[in-house]
Amino acid sequence: MINQERIKNLLLELVQIDSHSREERDVAERIKKYCEEMGAEVEIDDAGEKVGGNTGNVIARFKGTIPGAEPIMMSAHMDTVVPGKGVKPIIEGDIIRTDGTTVLGGDDKSGCAVIIETIRSLKEQNIPHTDIEAVFSICEEVGLLGAKNLDVSKLRSRYGIVFDSDDPGFLFTKGPSSNHIEFKIHGLESHAGVAPEQGISAIRIAAEAIAAMKLGRIDEETTANIGVIQGGLATNIIPNLVVLKGEARSLKDEKLDAQTEHMARCVRDAAAKYEVTVDGQTTKAWVEEMVERGYSSMDVPDSSKVVQLVFAAASRMGLKVQTMASGGGCDANVFNRKGIECANLGTGMRAIHTVKEWLDVKDMYASAEMTLEILRLNGEMAQQAKAAG
Ligand SMILES: [Zn+2]
Repeated sequence: MINQERIKNLLLELVQIDSHSREERDVAERIKKYCEEMGAEVEIDDAGEKVGGNTGNVIARFKGTIPGAEPIMMSAHMDTVVPGKGVKPIIEGDIIRTDGTTVLGGDDKSGCAVIIETIRSLKEQNIPHTDIEAVFSICEEVGLLGAKNLDVSKLRSRYGIVFDSDDPGFLFTKGPSSNHIEFKIHGLESHAGVAPEQGISAIRIAAEAIAAMKLGRIDEETTANIGVIQGGLATNIIPNLVVLKGEARSLKDEKLDAQTEHMARCVRDAAAKYEVTVDGQTTKAWVEEMVERGYSSMDVPDSSKVVQLVFAAASRMGLKVQTMASGGGCDANVFNRKGIECANLGTGMRAIHTVKEWLDVKDMYASAEMTLEILRLNGEMAQQAKAAG
């Protein structure tokens, strides 16, 4: 069993330590201290320097009690989205929420708390276990930068669990690839009242392009959005520049490519309709396109070691865990691409990335109990494998 009071207090403590992305040092130091008190050898890597943050990823190595057994990785991220400073948690029975001025940061302090409390319980109850490599990452919320800049050769684990989703009854094993997309639409400026026929409105081109675009949920596996539009200087100037920023995501890379190309084509086609000739000189509207891969998809099969381990642990507890596809990316996307087979288990966080974020501690307890069982079972399997030679 895990200690419910202790994990609840740990969560309350962690959410009250400010840790916006790139400013995770205080929470990193606290987590480092707790892991060291539990006997881990702890390293803070150089990812912070690479991304302009004040700390790196915390890597805590816990020695197992089964010599020679394969290690398992457990990971959660330390950073929170904005507004996340000065969190004042409000406790109403089993529900923890905020005063409505900040996020709670249960995303992903609940994941950090689950990892720490589970390992504490494992040690206190002398449950045989393999080596555990706990990775507390930075800058997940700003593009998975901590995981991307983690040198995985520092880790020996080949499989693991990321704790960064809501319902502990679900295990996310599939996640999309994403593209950041930016268009700069160039028109031609002119006086709106005196010489409108000598201008090309970049705003009109943007409007036509967006109106022609398929956006929102494209199909079961694909989404797209234009989230930022900037342009124009004054009402009496025909605007010569509009910047559109958007994204597309899909579980299938071919679909992601097709959607990205569709969006680009809408902008190109809209721009192609516009040209003006002034004093014998013709100007055509034109477009600059930028596409950057945000992260790459993950697809862990149900037959994989980590999913089978979670299924078996759940069934020993009389529970069922269902594998799911996520619409978002997380550190697990990166770890899978770097050769550590990872699934994402829920911890109870809800309404994340809003000031209405809340968490039911019963979900977090369930997540921690399940994790304790996962580690116990992982140890038993390692012992059996050893006995079988
Ligand atoms: Zn998260």
